Amino acid sequence: MANKSIVLRDLRLLIDGALVPGAESVAVINPATGETLVDAPMVSRAQLDQAVAAALDVPRIWGRDEALRRQSLSQAADIVSAHVAELATILCLEIGLPYKLAEMETGAAVAFLRYRASGKASIDTIADDEKQRIYVRRIPVGVTGAILPWNAPLLIAAEKLSTAVAAGNSVVMKPSPLAPLTVLRLGMLLRDVFPSGVFNTVPGGDQLGKALVAHPKVGMISFTGSIAAGQSIMAASSPGLKRLSLELGGNDAAIVLPDVDIRKVARRLFTGAFFRTGQICAAIKRLYVHESIMSELLAEMKTVAEGTVLGDPFDPATTMGPLANRPQFERVENLVSASLAAGGKAVAGGHALDRPGNFYAPTLVVGLSDKAPLVAEEQFGPALPVLSFAKVEDAIEAANGTVYGLGGSVWTSDVEQGIDIASQLRSGTAWVNQHGIVLPHIPFGGVNLSGLGRANGAVGLDSYSELQTISVSLPPKAPVS
Ligand code: NAD
Repeated sequence: MANKSIVLRDLRLLIDGALVPGAESVAVINPATGETLVDAPMVSRAQLDQAVAAALDVPRIWGRDEALRRQSLSQAADIVSAHVAELATILCLEIGLPYKLAEMETGAAVAFLRYRASGKASIDTIADDEKQRIYVRRIPVGVTGAILPWNAPLLIAAEKLSTAVAAGNSVVMKPSPLAPLTVLRLGMLLRDVFPSGVFNTVPGGDQLGKALVAHPKVGMISFTGSIAAGQSIMAASSPGLKRLSLELGGNDAAIVLPDVDIRKVARRLFTGAFFRTGQICAAIKRLYVHESIMSELLAEMKTVAEGTVLGDPFDPATTMGPLANRPQFERVENLVSASLAAGGKAVAGGHALDRPGNFYAPTLVVGLSDKAPLVAEEQFGPALPVLSFAKVEDAIEAANGTVYGLGGSVWTSDVEQGIDIASQLRSGTAWVNQHGIVLPHIPFGGVNLSGLGRANGAVGLDSYSELQTISVSLPPKAPVS
């Protein structure tokens, strides 16, 4: 890992190819201690306008030269790869991710950049004969406003930057004020990789996000965050008919059939729900277990929960960090106390740790109805409601009985039955015997209120492109004499 005090020194915004100080600042809190890490620079409205103007002013060749863009992305991947220790240290400090997981996120960011560096936008040929040539190509949307949540800032920044750039766009990126540091550092590291104005970092609060969305020169908003903010962005984008990619919250159900190997599956279900302290959009957030194995599976999961080591994210023995910020800690605490007050029972955890920082014990709650807030709402933290079912049809109905639709999974020894049940789940992704696998080449996104459009894969590139049909009438060929 890198030196903690050095990595946070002199953080700057990247605007129009220059590293500049912020007009304002916000205190970023270390979630593991509750202490202020640093006063991070934030942009003013005037700086936001400068960033958008620079993004608009990018030379036309940027949108036309795919090889140059791929070369830039490859260089960006090399630079991030050479700075894993530094970026992972910042992630660890600002969101409390255990260091090993922070290294993993940095590695995943490199993978997203490399994926787009190596891919090529497709051209669809509709007709190609002696009379006409008709094909559809991908052209850039223009300035992409990228708005990020706090839970995986580097990974989501890399996903949005790489896709927008691969499609020929420029990017004005607003990280969350709760976790702006890694993205600021990313902008500093990539300063010389892209032509001026292609990548700009504009940290700020929700109001700044609204200004970015309303900006008339921004052609597309790529947003990852809550459903409420996604709805507000969609409404605010309507006057300009802005292109939208909305990756929103989830409340994924996992359905566990009676034929599973209980011991093995218990550990994997626990990871599916509690990895990164449960702060993953596509984590298991509701667990439906067949009644015949409920008590045995719960006992196994309780053992795993009690073996979890919470502590200093930099300590190699730590397996789970704190919640990344105080509002999120309070949300989880309130959801659990409301559930316990309504008759639920904590089989494991159910309380915060008595130490500074946002530490909350991994919690399994039983005895809840589908209407209980911990079941019906997205907790986005280390508290999992576990419910039993007798008939699989009832479990499918309960899993689908939600406004969300990001992911879902089925756990069984019978793969074909697993696929059959998975295909009845109304979600953007349905996994069998795994959960939450998100990779650069696999389309990912939500149905219902969990989002609009798909990230990743070829379809992800389409979200950041306009389709242009080129239709050519060919002159008749001169007869061969
Ligand atoms: P949030 O919606 O509160 O904030 C996300 C970002 O949007 C922040 O940068 C914020 O400043 C900005 N913002 C808020 N309101 C805005 C508005 N009206 N206009 C423009 N910008 C606005 O979400 P959060 O608490 O940072 O993140 C947690 C949420 O993100 C969870 O619901 C989680 O499931 C979701 N998430 C989804 C995915 C996915 O891929 N589907 C991935 C990660 C997180």
